[in-house]
Amino acid sequence: MSCNIYTEVVVIGGGPSGYSAGFRCADLGLDTVLVEQYPNLGGVCLNVGCIPSKALLHIAKTIKDVKHLSKCGVLFNTLQIDICKIRLWKKNLIKKLSEGLTYLSNKRNIQVLTGIGSFVTANHLLVRNSQSKDFNIFFKKAVIAIGSTPVMLNNVPYLDERIWTSNDALCLSMIPKRFLIIGSGIIGLEMATIYSALGSIVDVVDTNSQIFASVDQDLVSNFLKIVSMDFKIILNTQVLKIKAKDNGIWVTLKNNSNIDKLVCYDAVLIAIGRKIDLENLNLKKIGGVSISNLGNVCVNDQLCTNIPNIYAIGDVVGYPMLAHKGIYQGKIVADIIAGKQVFFDPLVIPAIAYTNPELAWVGVTEKEAIEKNIKYKKSVFPWSVSGKAIISNAHVGQTNLIFDDVSKRIIGGAILGPNAGELLGEISLAIEMGCYAEDISLTMHAHPTLYETIGGASEVLQGISTDLI
Ligand code: FAD
Repeated sequence: MSCNIYTEVVVIGGGPSGYSAGFRCADLGLDTVLVEQYPNLGGVCLNVGCIPSKALLHIAKTIKDVKHLSKCGVLFNTLQIDICKIRLWKKNLIKKLSEGLTYLSNKRNIQVLTGIGSFVTANHLLVRNSQSKDFNIFFKKAVIAIGSTPVMLNNVPYLDERIWTSNDALCLSMIPKRFLIIGSGIIGLEMATIYSALGSIVDVVDTNSQIFASVDQDLVSNFLKIVSMDFKIILNTQVLKIKAKDNGIWVTLKNNSNIDKLVCYDAVLIAIGRKIDLENLNLKKIGGVSISNLGNVCVNDQLCTNIPNIYAIGDVVGYPMLAHKGIYQGKIVADIIAGKQVFFDPLVIPAIAYTNPELAWVGVTEKEAIEKNIKYKKSVFPWSVSGKAIISNAHVGQTNLIFDDVSKRIIGGAILGPNAGELLGEISLAIEMGCYAEDISLTMHAHPTLYETIGGASEVLQGISTDLI
């Protein structure tokens, strides 16, 4: 059975990039169809990414905060973890947000189709679903927003239920006693934060010699000091072999002194990055969309591919693969399709590791400033002199700001500490608005707050002494 649909815009992919593009297109009066292969909207972010991971991180942080309370004279009974209840709570959160997206699509009269979209021509998309019902969508413009999938390692027994991708780790099927995470990127370290708080003994292994290599290393080394109390990070080490046996997953690790070690774990998570899978889209039917060496779809600063009526946004256009980048691009692409002369040219894209403590950075880092020969000044504000940080058991936090020494404007910043991701907002805005150090320090910062440390850092740069805030 097949059905023909004629529309101005078709968006392929119902993740944050796709639904943002679809919503804005409809708001701008464009007839819009949104195609998603799964019954739920929200993509990786809502279903197996940002939202479930942050839900579990919220629990992890609360457990740690409660443990700290015993030092302040407040004691609770012994910690008990009911993973069935946690799973249900997480499922309900996702359901609530997913229903919200359906409501918002219906409110805008967006036609949402469930099925896999593949191009037939540059104006015709075939959508096929498991009920073998085909939709032929004839469109003027298409937006590709199909996201990314986890990178798999070769020769790994993936069918064994103790070998996980991030999707499996977020299912919380069990709390492994000994847990290995391969990959020390944001996803790997967030999972280490969750599982160590839930009681696993966690090792994180990586071939790299550094974590967060591009971020200010003074912050990273403070970060390492704190998280090493919760889990172990083993750098310069390669995973040679993974073998599933009845008594556990046996992993052969080799360090850069060529010494092999065989270690047994109850579960292994592979978190070594994400890739683009374009196979289902059948791009060859639309005359060869340009693809980069890294496998992502190439777009110009108006998010258009080399085929004039085909746009692409979100993870599918490459790094950074972050939901907020996709959401931003979704809104811009809709404006462009509606005829507005706008471009995707943000000065900065914030990055946040929602670990405990959080590590967040935006704009130029010190390393980048050195590499690019930018004349810069760096200002450091330690949280050990912040009243709010001391109250919140966050005295090891730190706020760094980077200023261009020629223009005197702020060009970057990084924060270590609880809520660093939220605090980063002030720095992002300051960079986008081209603020000088004085603009920040002359803005009154409420006391006692953690964001006072941003005002403090800008005062330090101007030589104003801020001893204790
Ligand atoms: P996706 O969310 O991947 O959505 C693409 C959608 O397209 C999917 O629903 C897919 O089913 C659908 N699709 C694919 N092919 C087709 C087809 N042919 N036809 C129809 N439908 C199709 N980012 C953050 O900014 N903050 C975070 O805290 C964060 N945490 C994360 C935690 C984890 C564990 C993971 C894995 C990722 C996290 N990310 C985070 C990254 C974030 O999830 C992605 O950047 C974001 O989901 C990308 O959005 P997207 O719309 O481009 O793609």
